[in-house]
Parts: sequence; structure tokens; C-alpha cells
Amino acid sequence: MKDAFAAAMVLLLLLFGIPFLGLERPETEGETETVPTDEQVTLTVWDGTENREITMAEYLPGVVRGEMPATFELEALKAQAVTARTYIYYKMTTGGKASHPDADVCMDPGCCSAYTPADKAAAKWGDKAEENEGRIQQAVRGTDGQVMLYGGEPIFAAFHSSSDGVTANSGDVWVKDLPYLVSVESPEGEEVPNYYSVKTMPAAEFQETFTKRYPEAGFGDDPAAWVQDVQLNGSGRVETVSIGGVRVEGTDVRSVFGLRSASFTVACSEQEVTFRVTGYGHGVGMSQYGANALAKEGKTWQEILHWYYTDVTLGTYAP
Ligand SMILES: [Zn+2]
Repeated sequence: MKDAFAAAMVLLLLLFGIPFLGLERPETEGETETVPTDEQVTLTVWDGTENREITMAEYLPGVVRGEMPATFELEALKAQAVTARTYIYYKMTTGGKASHPDADVCMDPGCCSAYTPADKAAAKWGDKAEENEGRIQQAVRGTDGQVMLYGGEPIFAAFHSSSDGVTANSGDVWVKDLPYLVSVESPEGEEVPNYYSVKTMPAAEFQETFTKRYPEAGFGDDPAAWVQDVQLNGSGRVETVSIGGVRVEGTDVRSVFGLRSASFTVACSEQEVTFRVTGYGHGVGMSQYGANALAKEGKTWQEILHWYYTDVTLGTYAP
């Protein structure tokens, strides 16, 4: 009797089950290769102690939780999910970094991307945990497998917190000018927390900090001569400036003095030096607050990505 039942089940499966299973993952129109979904992609992640094999579906929500406030508009969160997924694909196809040669990416935001586990995020979110986690999952699943491509390859999907009205060219910050990372307008403004920031330090500390990095620098008695000839790049950020007689890049000034961005002015007096800074981050690629502003205007995640990444296409990629 049991055998007959089992045989009937097998027959039923053959008749209905298999065609049904076949319908679960329909092939995208015109594509012959299998489209990799986030469940089907496994990456190696360096967690600071060891390498972990983890699927994109499991890993990516942690990156979105770590990189963008869950209270942002859903379309902005989706744009963030695609940006983070694309960055991971880029790393997978171009090789890991020297600090983790056997892993595709790591969990250090200073190196690859931030990562916040579900339990840690839930503890932080409190009674909003369920709602926020739902939005994160919706952002990832709603863009399943989607990445940004240029010339058929995943792009170096740089992003930052907020711009000063326009984003930067990649060549302003890094050595290479990439055709899809060019300066565009960005609509965020004073609603961004700490959009304008001020950094003041005693004149002696300013000189010491700079001289430590550039020992050839010299500072005379006249504060007006300490910082001279500020050159701005096309995006309005500091390209180069002469400090203590040494010409340095704006991005280096940002790093030496811990400024929030390279969009700054500087004022010197005998007592102190004051930097006034706009925005936060390197300024290249998508501005997260700009993406949120665009989403509030009704733009979709696709429109947001096309806004910040010039001439890219959106689609899936089989590594
Ligand atoms: Zn890394």
C-alpha cells in the first residue's frame, strides 16, 4: 500500500511538480545563460579573524544595514543595495586587496564596506526593528541580482554620504578618471545632519600637525601667508593649496586634518585656524543623501543610479 502511494506521488510530481518547479525561475527574455540570483552567488568575506563563505543573499542586507539609515526612502535603499552589490561584484572580478588576498571583500568600512549583523541592527532599532528590517530585505530582494555594468563589466561603484551640490570626478580623488564616475549635480542640502561643519584648532597645533606630515613646511609670523593660492577643481572642491609653502592636494588636507570632505575654506589668525567644510565623504559616485532627496521627488532606484553613474546599464552579471 505504501509503495503504491509513493508511486502515485512520484507520478504526480512527474506530471505537475517538475513543470511547476521549472516555472519558479523563469529565464529572462533573450538570455541564454543562467541568471545568478543573490542566493546563487557565494563570496568569500574576511571578517577580521577568518574568511567566511556566504551567499550574496545573506551578506548584502548586512552591508545595506551598515551603510545607509533604514529610515531612508525605499527607492534610495534599493539604489544602495545595487551599489553595494555592484561593488562586491567588482571586487570579485578584479581580485581582493592586499590586506585580504584570499577574500573578495571585508567588513571594514575603511577598506571595503561596513557590515551590520541583523541582531546588532535590531538592538539599535528597538521597536522599529521589524519595520526597518523589512525595508532592508525589500531593498535587497526587490533588486535581486541587479548590478551596474559598463562595457559589460561591473563598475567600481563608489558612493559617499553627502556632496556639496555636485559630486566629484573620480580623477579628482583617485588617480584614474573613470567614464562613469563624472561630476553631476546632487540635490541634497541643509537637511543633511552636519552638512556644514567647522573644525577649529590652535595655530600651533595646525602647524605641528602639518609639519609632521610635510617636514619641509615653514610657517612665518604672518598668518595670512600660511595658507595660500587655493585652487578649486571643476566640482568646487579644493584641488590643491599651498600650506607653509608646500603645495598639497585638497584630499590630503582632508586626511591630515580629519575634515569631513575636501570641500572647505580655511581662515588663519595668530591664535587659531578654522576650516569650514561642506558635505561628508570623497564626493565620488552616488551621494546617499542626494539619492534620498531624489527618491523623495519620486525618482525610482533605476533613475537614481542613472543620475549618479554616467552611461551605465542595469542588469545581471554572470561572473
Ligand atoms: Zn576590504
